[in-house]
Amino acid sequence: MRYCKFPTSDGPQYGEVQTQHGEEVIVRRIPPPEEDRACVFVEEEMQPTTLGEARLLAPVNPSKIVCVGRNYREHAKELGNEVPVDILIFLKPPSSLLAPEGKILMPKLSQRVDYEGELAVVIGKKCRNATEREALSFVRGYTCANDVTARDLQKSDGQWTRGKGFDTFCPIGPVVTDEISPEALDLETRVNGELRQKGNTRDFIFSLPAVIRYISSVMTLLPGDVILTGTPAGVGPLKEEDRVQVSISGIGTLTNFVVAEGRWTSSEVEEALARK
Ligand code: MG
Repeated sequence: MRYCKFPTSDGPQYGEVQTQHGEEVIVRRIPPPEEDRACVFVEEEMQPTTLGEARLLAPVNPSKIVCVGRNYREHAKELGNEVPVDILIFLKPPSSLLAPEGKILMPKLSQRVDYEGELAVVIGKKCRNATEREALSFVRGYTCANDVTARDLQKSDGQWTRGKGFDTFCPIGPVVTDEISPEALDLETRVNGELRQKGNTRDFIFSLPAVIRYISSVMTLLPGDVILTGTPAGVGPLKEEDRVQVSISGIGTLTNFVVAEGRWTSSEVEEALARK
């Protein structure tokens, strides 16, 4: 199934997405995935609504967002790093989530904010000490994400919490799907329509089963948790008014816009942050 999350007068809801006449539409409301108690479920038929009309929300409600650093050889090299011999993980806070079409706020504290297009994995079942053989059975589905990074702060801090953790630094969506397998997905990132990253998940240094085994040997993964699987080569800076798009085959395109924090009034910032 392909599903998305959208606001209604009753509160956020999840909906099944199907393609009708070449357009993706929400055809029915579905119960919230486990661990998403913020969502309501009103069981009634709905008029088919296109994803554009629905003003989508981030289709996840994670207790944590676990990210893999340097999982593509060429990306490790482009930043002058060694290709890692073991899996490297870090966390982004759930407060960094951003909806499709939402505004990435460039913080005043940073002079260099980069995009990182990535395949995101949504966990469907509680998972601890998974073996590689069973790892993919814990996955609910896949979606697109942008591991937005304040590169200067990541470098100067040494550890990555601040550089990776600002509000709006984890755009995700538009839909979650379990109708694809993760082994060979094309991933492209565009800025203002210009191709900047082109990768394929077959070039992962560490396979997804290996990543799930590794993370779940450290921390229990809960339903709704998100894993960002690393970015291919071609990362680069964003600037104000850029449009950044992450596209993955079989999923779709995640589009976001960039604004400088200082250019917005505090109420505009509050409004943007309220839509996750
Ligand atoms: Mg990344």
